[in-house]
Amino acid sequence: MNEETVKSKIAVVTGAGRGIGRGIAEALARDGFHVICVSKSESSCGAAADAIRQAGGQADALPVDVSAGDQIRNACEQLLEKHECIDVLVNNAGITRDNLLFRMGEDDWDSVINTNLTSCFHWIKALGRPMTRKRWGRIVNIASVVGISGNAGQANYSAAKAGMIGLTKSLAREFAARSVTVNAIAPGFIDTDMTSELDERVKEGALGAIPLKRFGQVSDIAEMASFLCSDKASYITGQVFTVDGGMVM
Ligand code: NAP
Repeated sequence: MNEETVKSKIAVVTGAGRGIGRGIAEALARDGFHVICVSKSESSCGAAADAIRQAGGQADALPVDVSAGDQIRNACEQLLEKHECIDVLVNNAGITRDNLLFRMGEDDWDSVINTNLTSCFHWIKALGRPMTRKRWGRIVNIASVVGISGNAGQANYSAAKAGMIGLTKSLAREFAARSVTVNAIAPGFIDTDMTSELDERVKEGALGAIPLKRFGQVSDIAEMASFLCSDKASYITGQVFTVDGGMVM
């Protein structure tokens, strides 16, 4: 086997320091990808990359604040100098700044839209072109069920997630002729730092709306992402997969 045959495909996972992103990064490393773990803090993506390497996988850490377009562009330039092409991009980094609309400041609107949605535009614009040239690529955007259903108190977050779904469907059409697939996963309520902060009453209410009567685990989302990034999913594009215990049907 020559060196080219054994060279791993490269996957960039944003928000890979914790929670769902870290689970996706670990699943892709297990699948044989060389994973670039992106997160805001160096310690967080560094620990994720270390854990993957300790488990025998290939990973690098790349701290990037995805709310800043120039940081994403610089990071992508750096990546493409080193790797030529990124094969898989998982846009997972996200934040919430919840409030009812009349109490929501413009800064909370802007930071959620920039971090969750505009970041996807920058990453895909920079990394999508070499993927289309190579005629193989996988883009997975981690949206949310509230991007489909809406949610009181989350107008900024729901708008960003609905935007990610529109972006997914449009780019699936733009990139399809080049065998680059673009899909979204819409998680329901997943047990991570993001949801652990919620009030117990909110959690009880959420549990009541889940037919499978449990919160999702990071692995529930990671395995869907793993499948969508594989060759097995080559005929699937422009789709939104809800992984939510049956919450939204
Ligand atoms: P989490 O535990 O809060 O982790 C968020 C990750 O995103 C962290 O690694 C964090 O980096 C990174 N991040 C946040 N802001 C960033 C920025 N400006 N630049 C770079 N990285 C940034 O979140 P999670 O629950 O795993 O959620 C992951 C994704 O799934 C999000 O897009 C979220 O909206 C979506 N989602 C989650 C749920 C759920 O129930 N948990 C449901 C639906 C959708 P650091 O580690 O450096 O802080």
